[in-house]
Amino acid sequence: MKADLHGTGARELAMAGLPKVSDRSSIRRSNLGLVLRLLRDEGPRSRARIATDTGLPKATVSSLVTELVESGLAREGEVEREGTVGRPGLAVEIDGSTVCGIGAEINVDYLSILALDLRGTVIAERRIAFDVRTASPDAVLDAIADTIRRTVDELRADGIRTIGVTLAAPGVIDMKRGRVSYASNIGWRDVDALAGLARRLGPDAPPLHLENDAKLGAIAEYLAVSAPDMHDLLYLTGEIGVGAGIIAGGQLLRGTAGHAGEVGHLPLDPGGRLCACGRRGCWETQVGLAALLRAAADPDDPVCDPSVDLEQRLAELMRRAKAGDPRTLDALDAIATALGPGIALLLDVLNPQLLVLGGHFAFFGQYLIDQVRHTVHQTVMAPDAGGCEIVLSTLGFTAAARGGACLALDAVYQDPAGSLLLQPARR
Ligand SMILES: [Zn+2]
Repeated sequence: MKADLHGTGARELAMAGLPKVSDRSSIRRSNLGLVLRLLRDEGPRSRARIATDTGLPKATVSSLVTELVESGLAREGEVEREGTVGRPGLAVEIDGSTVCGIGAEINVDYLSILALDLRGTVIAERRIAFDVRTASPDAVLDAIADTIRRTVDELRADGIRTIGVTLAAPGVIDMKRGRVSYASNIGWRDVDALAGLARRLGPDAPPLHLENDAKLGAIAEYLAVSAPDMHDLLYLTGEIGVGAGIIAGGQLLRGTAGHAGEVGHLPLDPGGRLCACGRRGCWETQVGLAALLRAAADPDDPVCDPSVDLEQRLAELMRRAKAGDPRTLDALDAIATALGPGIALLLDVLNPQLLVLGGHFAFFGQYLIDQVRHTVHQTVMAPDAGGCEIVLSTLGFTAAARGGACLALDAVYQDPAGSLLLQPARR
């Protein structure tokens, strides 16, 4: 039995590489997921309406809902009155306050963790200033594993089970082998990150996944967009490294070897500055966070100190910009000037419906976006920039970790019973 649920298929496609229902014969298990996804995508509704929407028999829906309620994934609340005819029913809605997914991000100068419950509420969040460039991969994995362990333990003490953890890394990911193939800004090459993390967290760890930060950011942005017909999105990270997460036709684009979206290394400034990748004139040497800091401040300025929290440093730069400090404003102007042509190029290639600027591009958006929009509209071949809207992310520097948490939680939506079995409740 399969329902045609508007928008649901696209959301699932965006998360390719997810755990699938392992027992294909278990129609019941897949129907549990079907009902849960209906509640997620279409909102609370009565058992009768779930039956209508899914095409499942009412008795089946009743027992599925009972199982979801007993497992804590759904609850029955307000009475729903369906028009003027028929009996009112209790509305079934997503609960899931006792399960969570965790995203853990390794970035150039910080590590961060974010946990979401099934309703998408942030229930744990922390960021640690950490100079990943100068630390060994082992030291970084030690630190992130320690942070994950502490978060999982704290949540468990509150009766919350962690369904899965996604590690976000700023580089190309070898999905098959669970390795970070190449991450120029942190100096990683073929690092066995997933196995290293699993070894540190031990056999009781929740299921672990590994994904590129920009791709996870794109997933988070895609899920955050409320427009149901928007399935072509480009997310641009704004960090030391610059990368794109591409959702095309509702599907996350990885490319043959996972390199799709490595736009920070487009050679947009021929003969320009040396990039961490070893080549010259890459786009991120013009628009990345390091370029901004370099232009806005001297190396001994506290805003360049990686031991200070990133948002504190950027808040100081924002204060200077608002005070009209010419050096800061010039630095932001240079970012805007170099950002426009690169974005125009991406729009010519991909023609997305929405381009979301993340990280420091969003943080300083008020100083960048008008110029970027102007350049894009002047440059892109298609009329009206191909219909693309350029917006600022509202997820701040949490987009990658948030996308990781969503990806981890998707296991529950795909196979509610199976994902809970993997992580028995320990109270
Ligand atoms: Zn480069």
